[in-house]
Amino acid sequence: MKKYIVSFSGGKDSSAMLLRMIELDYKIDEVLFCDTGKEFPQLYKYVERMKNHVQQLGIKFTILTPEKSWDDWFFGKVTRGKMKGKKRGWPLMFFHCYWSRESKFLLLDPLCYGHERYIGFGADETKRLVSGRKKEGYNFPLADWGWTEKNALEYLLKVGWCEQFHLDFNRTGCFLCPKQGEESLKTLCDKYPEQWDELLRYAKLSNNDFKPGVGLKELKEIEDQVKYNRTFNKSDQFHLDFGCCLEEI
Ligand code: SF4
Repeated sequence: MKKYIVSFSGGKDSSAMLLRMIELDYKIDEVLFCDTGKEFPQLYKYVERMKNHVQQLGIKFTILTPEKSWDDWFFGKVTRGKMKGKKRGWPLMFFHCYWSRESKFLLLDPLCYGHERYIGFGADETKRLVSGRKKEGYNFPLADWGWTEKNALEYLLKVGWCEQFHLDFNRTGCFLCPKQGEESLKTLCDKYPEQWDELLRYAKLSNNDFKPGVGLKELKEIEDQVKYNRTFNKSDQFHLDFGCCLEEI
């Protein structure tokens, strides 16, 4: 029988979508959350809160975890192509992220196949909506309601489901995501020092750059800028914000 499945990341868009769908009495059989293992600690608490909330309403809430960890992939070896045999390191910024494939799509797709899935793309995410709408079984309630990301945030504030990390970042996802832009990195360094230190630790151990032209040295420079207000000549890549893995749907 066809199921109605909500893809929930804990970010503002999918959170607002889920809560509003409940309010509007949409049919929801299950909520799926993919645990990448590299989410913010505050987000894990939020997921627990949401899990309790939806379970109390009789909706199934499932947390999906990948078979192998981020470390297995980060320190694992490339198995084909020019880089075969080399340590994998950071996911490449201009390609589909291996970690979104392993920790999200390979888990979600078999469970959602043949069912209706709800995805939290805002009405202003035109490019992603164009490709998403071509796929069978994909539904975008926020866009159908005409809600932008700003509307989603306002709604969360109104209903008491907005957390500081929703306000701090444009998009949430793995805190060490190379697809995040300069502002996100600065916020991470400034307000989430443990996660920033972890990012630097991986940058020290990686044999590829965090993103093109941005390696450990440039990340340390951004730290200097945040901590000591020093300026430096940044690579253009610092400015790019690819909005994490959702663009790959
Ligand atoms: S948030 Fe970034 S690193 Fe994490 S799965 Fe998505 S694209 Fe990959």
